[in-house]
Amino acid sequence: MKLHRILPFARQLFSETVNAGETVVDATTGNGNDTLFLADLVGENGHVLAFDIQQAALDSTAERLGNLSERVSLILDSHANVEKYVSGQIGCAVFNLGYLPHSEDLSIVTKADSTIKAIHTMLGLLKKGGIIAVAVYDGHEGGGEERDALLAYVKNLHQADVHVIRYEMINQRNNPPFLIAMEKMKDFITVKLV
Ligand code: SAM
Repeated sequence: MKLHRILPFARQLFSETVNAGETVVDATTGNGNDTLFLADLVGENGHVLAFDIQQAALDSTAERLGNLSERVSLILDSHANVEKYVSGQIGCAVFNLGYLPHSEDLSIVTKADSTIKAIHTMLGLLKKGGIIAVAVYDGHEGGGEERDALLAYVKNLHQADVHVIRYEMINQRNNPPFLIAMEKMKDFITVKLV
């Protein structure tokens, strides 16, 4: 298959971007699929900061990681507080919006305010050439509001600072997810909006 689905496409971007030894962020750890991928990508000297607000998600991720868990900090906190945990640059960040699949409480979902605050902070922390990828699921209650707020935010990022793409399969049924990917084009600390 040449036209990748959104998650393999995001991983391809990360593989082309992240160098061994870097620090990267999984902003929505969930069951740890992306955490595991990133832990492998950064190598034995790299580090993954993995955020989730549900202990059950971090527990299931710890189990999945096995001996790669040494490369990962599992952080029970909102990604909106990322600046409390990062001291240097990050090589990439991944977000999977929505709820934790198979969770007992599907009402725990990502929210526009904290998602945008986290992206805004991480754009400041990101290395030049680094990628932030956000898988947007909008079929659940509140998903449409988060999608619209996020699209409004990323469309206003200054094009000289950040390139933004939207990648999606347009002939799938039942609210298929789409990907927003941002590449930081120059060094800056404060994100400019147009
Ligand atoms: N990538 C994950 C995987 O491989 O299983 C799936 C992530 S799931 C779609 C979204 C996750 O985001 C849930 O586990 C949820 O608890 C978490 N979440 C919701 N709000 C959050 C926040 N403010 N900060 C960090 N995680 C959050």
